Amino acid sequence: MIHSRSLAALVLLSAVAGPLRAQQLPADLVVTNGRIYTVDGARTVVDAMAIRAGRVVFVGDRAGARALTGANTRTLDLQGRTVIPGMTDAHAHVTGLGQSLLNVDLVGTTSYEQVIAKVVERARTTPKGEWIIGRGWDQNDWGDTRWPTHEALSRAVPDHPVYLERVDGHAGLVNALALQKAGVTKATPNPGGGSIERDAQGNPAGVFVDNAQDLIGRAIPAQTRAQVKNAIKLAITEMHRWGLTGVHDAGASAQVLGLYEELGREGALDIRMYAMISDDASTIEAWFKRGPQSGLFDGMLWVRSVKLYQDGALGSRGAALLEPYSDNAATTGLLVSAPEHIKEVATRALRAGFQVNTHAIGDRGNRLVLDSYEAALKAVPTADHRFRVEHAQILNYDDIPRFAQLGVIPSMQASHQTSDMYWAANRLGENRLRGAYAWRSLLESGVVVPNGSDFPVEYVDPLISFKSAVTRQDARGWPAGGWYPEQRMTRDEGLKSMTLWPAYAAFQESELGSLAAGKRADFVVLDMDIMRAPDAVLQDARVVSTWVGGRVVYERK
Ligand SMILES: [Zn+2]
Repeated sequence: MIHSRSLAALVLLSAVAGPLRAQQLPADLVVTNGRIYTVDGARTVVDAMAIRAGRVVFVGDRAGARALTGANTRTLDLQGRTVIPGMTDAHAHVTGLGQSLLNVDLVGTTSYEQVIAKVVERARTTPKGEWIIGRGWDQNDWGDTRWPTHEALSRAVPDHPVYLERVDGHAGLVNALALQKAGVTKATPNPGGGSIERDAQGNPAGVFVDNAQDLIGRAIPAQTRAQVKNAIKLAITEMHRWGLTGVHDAGASAQVLGLYEELGREGALDIRMYAMISDDASTIEAWFKRGPQSGLFDGMLWVRSVKLYQDGALGSRGAALLEPYSDNAATTGLLVSAPEHIKEVATRALRAGFQVNTHAIGDRGNRLVLDSYEAALKAVPTADHRFRVEHAQILNYDDIPRFAQLGVIPSMQASHQTSDMYWAANRLGENRLRGAYAWRSLLESGVVVPNGSDFPVEYVDPLISFKSAVTRQDARGWPAGGWYPEQRMTRDEGLKSMTLWPAYAAFQESELGSLAAGKRADFVVLDMDIMRAPDAVLQDARVVSTWVGGRVVYERK
């Protein structure tokens, strides 16, 4: 790791030996009078910085920055405001977000009646026969936490096929017309890795879990390419609003990857896009042949990783556990992919120079992924693979040190902890909770823990995950002292988890993740000093402006 002192020495050396004039060229932008958290080892807080050609050229005091002011230099006086490096969501679903901005938003609904009312409202403005898609319901937030059944929805919305995805995307609720359009009946068997909830007679009851969702999904007409492109653009604009300058897209199809390249060529991809290739054989094959792509379109697009799925999610009891669920002894969850598949793709990825990022939530799911990675690394020893486990949510205590031993990065979403804490004990029992959302234990084992939101599963705002990481409390400060508070991150760690650690998890740490001379000038101005404000007010922090490569992409009105 290069500390900024040695970097400064390098800059000085090249200034003396090389083009002296280049060092004295005026900056495009000088930022002064701020409280700038650099996330850089040597100079952690400075009050000024200078930017030229999209990169930071100076961080330090006001006088030093002012010395780089020329006739055409723009000055940004922060009036004491706080600056942090641009935030990166290390696990999110970009087109999912764009679509959710167009679909019926069910996040935060507190009853089935409320869900139905929102669908009825949308049906009024939607031509009959056209699909209505919604997302974000969570029966754990309703008075009755059993799966909903379709009858009430079918009565209220008889003329539109309806598909409503659960908040975690691992289950979906349909109405009668959707069942009819999909041709799913009592006779339809459960697919592998999925289940159709059924009534006492064996008829589909309305909810489809994990792989069974495909039975409905294939009946929904595909969006046009133009619609998908529009959804991506909407998502980028939304991310800027919340201070995100980068995102790791956890599963991009061939079409989406093509659109990222198209947007890049058009100069419209103004977010650092680290796209993981979806688990589709021909797409993976094509990109492995092309080889890892880093920093395309002047540092906007990276395609050098694959997204795989080992198991399902905790809320829908799809997470694969070593022991049965505490609130349903009949099940230990399910596997979405065979472990052999993870091992096989991981082995080929190592040969092709790609990273593998596998979704694993349950303790069994996580163990299986670590086993597969271990076998692949034995077959193709690789020093700097940075393989990741996405979520790494429930770990058997014995498996925690294996991340550091294998060099595997646990990519975790702090806001999942504060969303799940109300019911996680029911699913898992107190004993298993000690290895759940255990980011302190992982940090101490010697790994970094990049943070994310998994949006649209959770809200886009990365400061929600920051607050969860450092307090393990919800917005109302519950529970007092924090949920398993020994697992909290410090503020410094929380900030790194949204900046430098996602950069590391994407092989970008020499370009992104901190504000230091030579790095890309991605930063966020905040209206609160989140490093010093009391826990209780953290959720009130708002983004004032967002900057990508020294260019403003969002400004609060
Ligand atoms: Zn996800």
